Amino acid sequence: MKTLLNILIIAALATGSVFADAKVKAGPRKGLLLDLGGKQAEFFVEKDRSISIAVYDAALKAQPASTEVITATAEAPSGKAKMAFEVKDGKLVSTTKLPEGEGYQVVVQAQAAPDAKKKNFRIKLQTHTCKGCGNAEYACTCDE
Ligand SMILES: [Zn+2]
Repeated sequence: MKTLLNILIIAALATGSVFADAKVKAGPRKGLLLDLGGKQAEFFVEKDRSISIAVYDAALKAQPASTEVITATAEAPSGKAKMAFEVKDGKLVSTTKLPEGEGYQVVVQAQAAPDAKKKNFRIKLQTHTCKGCGNAEYACTCDE
């Protein structure tokens, strides 16, 4: 499967978007893994509704956040809210919290480095825990 995986990654890089039918992958913190090309970023909603993003290498070994550039836009019913991130304890943590509500889209724009290609990830914000896999619903890995 390695070759197929490489092809999928190349295709995703070529279009600059996430493969619509790619399998959801969860990270060590049960967050949603975003493929930054050679690096993985794990999107996780904290209890206080801030977003934290942990960085891993391709083999899922934790790395302190370094060159990554992340911004997010919460498309909440109350209006779009831009969210900035700063490094805290080796992770990228949003400086503001997600607006009230559930089920709206959060668009994460991520770059592995400032000169790397921008990648957009659209995440449906559903924070309840999935009974099937035990992850938050936005990082659910169950087969539908
Ligand atoms: Zn699930």
